[in-house]
Amino acid sequence: MKILVTGGAGFIGSAVVRLAIARGHAVMNLDALTYAACLDNVASVSDSPLYAFERADIRDRAALDRIFAAHRPDAVMHLAAESHVDRSIDGPGAFIETNITGTYNMLEAARAFWTRAGRPAGFRFHHISTDEVFGSLPADPAVKFTETTPYDPRSPYSASKAASDHLVRAWAETYGLPVVLTNCSNNYGPYHFPEKLIPVVILNALAGKPLPVYGDGSNIRDWLYVEDHAEALLLVLEKGALGRSYNIGGENERTNLDLVKTLCALLDAKRPKAEGSYADQITFVTDRPGHDARYAIDPTRIRTELGWRPSVTVEEGLARTVDWYLANEAWWRPLQARQGVGERLGTGEKQ
Ligand code: NAD
Repeated sequence: MKILVTGGAGFIGSAVVRLAIARGHAVMNLDALTYAACLDNVASVSDSPLYAFERADIRDRAALDRIFAAHRPDAVMHLAAESHVDRSIDGPGAFIETNITGTYNMLEAARAFWTRAGRPAGFRFHHISTDEVFGSLPADPAVKFTETTPYDPRSPYSASKAASDHLVRAWAETYGLPVVLTNCSNNYGPYHFPEKLIPVVILNALAGKPLPVYGDGSNIRDWLYVEDHAEALLLVLEKGALGRSYNIGGENERTNLDLVKTLCALLDAKRPKAEGSYADQITFVTDRPGHDARYAIDPTRIRTELGWRPSVTVEEGLARTVDWYLANEAWWRPLQARQGVGERLGTGEKQ
């Protein structure tokens, strides 16, 4: 398959690009290379004859038309987005432009290409989204997000992603565009940009800086190893039913405080401090406005219909992640100098 991946220089998009190429697919990586991008994320595959890259902005419709015409993809995996909740609170405009208008441009460019190509039956537009569109859950562990949970986004980021999901469904209903959608919980793993919670904790710990935890640290997130997400995304692309959406989650609910303490324990074992524990650096800070209390995904549909299960436990995934950051300073050190990184506290979980 020839897959047009948007956002393939970001965290999840690059995992998709690496996996798709390992599976023998041709990939056209379309990315504007914003502050959140890093082409090193795909360095391991960029010499492959299966890999191509176009620097382009999804807000630029003419560029999208040109790329569709030049590369003639069999499928689109649309991941490009502004993704950091804290940045969406400080400056929502870019989130509206990229996540909503950019998705509209992608849909229109895909529809024009698909129509001109004679509406090939196998074509797929896969829209990658977040569980944050469903809002915030109560503490009751029996209550989880399903595919029929009503949308209730509460941050500019999640509202912009919710809007993009609605556009994708409308393009399927109105124009017959063959789409599949996925809504995933918090990802973590290698190449996670150093403004997000897990890398912030690891890197601040090593630097002897405070480990900021919003509020009392009781907010709950459901963590999924990024490579398991990439596997699920390719599976949905290949086997998902047209027009259907699939929730993807690791069934690994943790409070933020518990997660930070786990990372500290891993670091204590792998890179012991001269004195004390990294947990001594934990610092509680004023909560994020509108901070959702709990996210949890019910992955029954993707498990029963497509047979997907995560392969990495959260214990194993966090240990691998800590090892990766310890071994890859040359990757993360230059990214920390980028605009705005570290100005926010970085306790936005996926976001
Ligand atoms: P990321 O911020 O790491 O990467 C986003 C990529 O998109 C970057 O490479 C960036 O350069 C590119 N991009 C941004 N604006 C663009 C534009 N206007 N034109 C072209 N490219 C642009 O994000 P991520 O964490 O990898 O998330 C990828 C997708 O998955 C997003 O759609 C996000 O909403 C969704 N998602 C993320 C998570 C998570 O935990 N990170 C969970 C569920 C869903």
